[in-house]
Amino acid sequence: MNTTKIGWIGLGNMGIPMAGQLVNADYKVTVYNRSKDKEASLKEMGASVAGTPKDLISEIDVLVLMVSDDAAIEQIFNSEDGLFSADISGKVIINMSTVSPAISKEMAALCRDKGAQYLDAPVSGSVKQAETAQLVVMVGGDETAFGQVKPILEKMGKMAVRLGDVGSGNGAKLAINSLLALYTQGLAETVLFANQQGIKTEDLLNLLNNGAIANVFTKIKGDAIIAGNYKPAFALKHIVKDLNLAKAIGLDSPLAKTALNTFEAASFKYGEEDLIAVIKEVKG
Ligand code: NAP
Repeated sequence: MNTTKIGWIGLGNMGIPMAGQLVNADYKVTVYNRSKDKEASLKEMGASVAGTPKDLISEIDVLVLMVSDDAAIEQIFNSEDGLFSADISGKVIINMSTVSPAISKEMAALCRDKGAQYLDAPVSGSVKQAETAQLVVMVGGDETAFGQVKPILEKMGKMAVRLGDVGSGNGAKLAINSLLALYTQGLAETVLFANQQGIKTEDLLNLLNNGAIANVFTKIKGDAIIAGNYKPAFALKHIVKDLNLAKAIGLDSPLAKTALNTFEAASFKYGEEDLIAVIKEVKG
């Protein structure tokens, strides 16, 4: 059994398989999720469950957060039973959610005042990569704290890289997700254009996935288009969040602006579905 005691907050599409990797790696893991029903699978694997973030942090050494957005982070730190209502001195808090660099800097400063370390450590990769521990983890924050938790991050990903000060992981992640949005809209538009030319989706994707611009993304999302499967691996509403976060820190390019308009329109109808559901919006 690994001796570091790990706390985990956020058992959504990503949090469940990621926390599961730590249980499988023989860490003692205690979880908390706002909707209690989502704790069941981790409990079955052997994790303990805490009633509130405040209860959780007193029992662990390292805490991982994998929640939706800045508002969720605010709530988890600042609510009545939140992390800041407990003694957090000596803890390392790793925020793996995709959030703004600004909230990471704000929470890192407050953690430092209370004797704790905060690292931003968002991930590239989706549910499939989380299930196979193939995520790419990008980290901002204190170098020594990063060294302490790197073995834990490497249980969830194939690499964990520190880029600089707090917020730099978030900056890198928002850059990567701006390309994700462009890829997704581009794939949707390409499939629809080929269909317009009388080419079947299956035939186009067979060519695409064996050609020079093949990649894991077109394979996975191509299969989803063919199957009409829009079950969320990465919910469409989350890419809207990320494009807005990127815009707020200065992304102002022609393609990014177009993608934000498209995904915002799609989100009204398909926000809870996977981001490839944008094809339904583009089709009109
Ligand atoms: P998700 O399935 O929508 O799960 C969101 C999680 O956040 C749930 O556990 C939810 O709790 C919790 N949460 C939301 N608001 C909260 C609040 N106010 N207080 C406490 N908990 C709250 O999201 P996900 O797909 O796992 O993604 C999690 C993060 O990783 C996001 O920032 C996303 O952008 C990022 N990300 C996702 C992917 C992907 O492919 N899915 C890939 C890379 C990065 P409830 O269960 O109670 O709602």
